[in-house]
Order: sequence, then structure tokens, then C-alpha cells
Amino acid sequence: MIRVAVVGAQGRMGSSVVEAVKAADDMVLSASVGSTGELSDIRTDSTDVAVEFTVPSASLGNVLTLIGQGVDLVVGTTGWTQEKLDQVRQALATAPRKDQAVCIAPNFAISAVLADYFASKAAEYFTSAEVIELHHPDKVDAPSGTAIHTAQAIGQARRRARLASMPDGTQGEAASRGQLIDGVPVHAVRLQGLNAHEEILLGNTGEQLTIRADSFDRSSFMPGVLLAVRTIAAGGHEGLTVGLDQFLDL
Ligand code: NAP
Repeated sequence: MIRVAVVGAQGRMGSSVVEAVKAADDMVLSASVGSTGELSDIRTDSTDVAVEFTVPSASLGNVLTLIGQGVDLVVGTTGWTQEKLDQVRQALATAPRKDQAVCIAPNFAISAVLADYFASKAAEYFTSAEVIELHHPDKVDAPSGTAIHTAQAIGQARRRARLASMPDGTQGEAASRGQLIDGVPVHAVRLQGLNAHEEILLGNTGEQLTIRADSFDRSSFMPGVLLAVRTIAAGGHEGLTVGLDQFLDL
């Protein structure tokens, strides 16, 4: 059995992780810690992997503390900058265990991770590409971090394939053509009733490929979280891994 501790256990994501761990045949909940709980309760004698879903202002501190206690980690909290990731790498370099592992993933929805990957593969074969992301109206950022990542991956693929600029987007009101990210128009829809959705449109003369990922509720993240926990627990991923795609056989 994989012994899993959850940090941020009373939050929306954290409480879903607690339920997912309890429901998994190969996992047991070793600790659940909220904002007033003690991270010192999470140690290697009782925990194999800690899952962290808190707030960006607390996450780095939690991760560094748990690395110092020798615990492997799966982290879903967003807001990671290169500087913060470097601090995690430095902490791992002097960690108590040489094989210590941390996975930080900005998106655990397997459908979104695969859509992003498939788009980056397909983009080099298409003249035009646009990204539409659709979310509930309470989302704090626009466009979404995932859509930005997808557009950047498409931009990189287009450069690799030495594609010319897209043959469209020069007429009409600029605002109606979306935000250009790495040369790719990204459109953000905010609509009551939606959760988290992304559509990548790829066009050639006479044909179109549409890649679409739909996340209907928080349960969509749990298979990816459990996959990361199992992969870390299996060993062989020491150091920092950024992105769930690194753990998929792509
Ligand atoms: P939430 O419902 O606000 O939960 C955050 C929880 O963190 C709260 O229970 C809070 O406790 C707790 N917390 C705050 N500071 C803490 C600390 N120092 N130590 C331990 N716990 C602490 O937020 P959420 O919707 O679960 O989202 C959590 C994070 O996950 C956000 O960054 C969000 O963007 C991210 N997220 C990531 C993914 C992904 O796929 N990677 C998916 C969805 C969301 P109190 O209420 O007591 O302050």
C-alpha cells in the first residue's frame, strides 16, 4: 500500500484527493493537514508520498519543509515561477535522501495534458492554428495557463517545421481575433455553466482537425493525481519533475 498524506486537506482539491486516496485499492491515507495543522506529522516512517494543494503563497514553504523531512511530493498548487522551481531543485540537491522526488504539475487533467501534447504534434502539419479556452466566469486569469502553454507548444512546433506565418488574422477588429501568444491567436470564453474546456483548431485548405478537452468537475483531476502518486512511489524519478506529461508514455 502507498501511504499518502494530504496537505490542504480541507480545501476543494485537497478534500477530493482525500476521498480519491481512500477509494484507491493500493493507497492508504496517512495524514491530512489543513492550514492550522502540523507538517511535522508527515514523516517517512508513516508517509511515502505527500500531495500538496494549498495556496501559491504557502506552497513553496510547505514543499521545502517536507523535502527537509525526506518526504516525496506531488504538488498541484499553481503559481510556480522559475525562481521558485530553482529553490526546489536546490533543496533536493541537499535533501536527506538521494532518491527524493517531487512532481509539480499545473494541470492534472489527463485530457488537458494529452490535448496539449497532441496539438504540439499536429501543429507542424497545418497552415493555421487557433486556441479557444472556455471556463466558468469566476476564473481569476485569462487566458488560462494551460491555453498559454498550448499556444507556446504550437508556436514551437511551427518554428521547428519552418512554417510561414498564418495566412489570416490581418483583417477586422484586432480585439476580435484573440490574444496572440507565440504567434497563435488565443480566445478566452467566460460563460456561466462551464467548468474548464479547451479546443485547438488546426486548419489546412479543405480540412480541419479539432482537438478538445473537457473537464466537467474536480473529479477530472484525480486520475492524474493518483497516477503521479503511483509513479513517484514506484521510484526512479528522483529530482524535480514539472508537468504530468513527463509521467505519461508519450
Ligand atoms: P481552496 O479550496 O481555497 O483550498 C486551499 C486550501 O489550502 C484551504 O483549505 C486552505 O486552508 C489551505 N491552506 C492555506 N494555507 C495553507 C498552509 N500553509 N498549509 C496547509 N494548508 C493551507 O483551493 P483549491 O480549489 O483546492 O485549489 C488549491 C490550489 O490548487 C490552487 O493553487 C489551484 O489553482 C490549484 N489547482 C490545481 C489544479 C491542477 O490540476 N494542478 C487543479 C485545480 C486547482 P484554510 O481555508 O484554512 O486557509
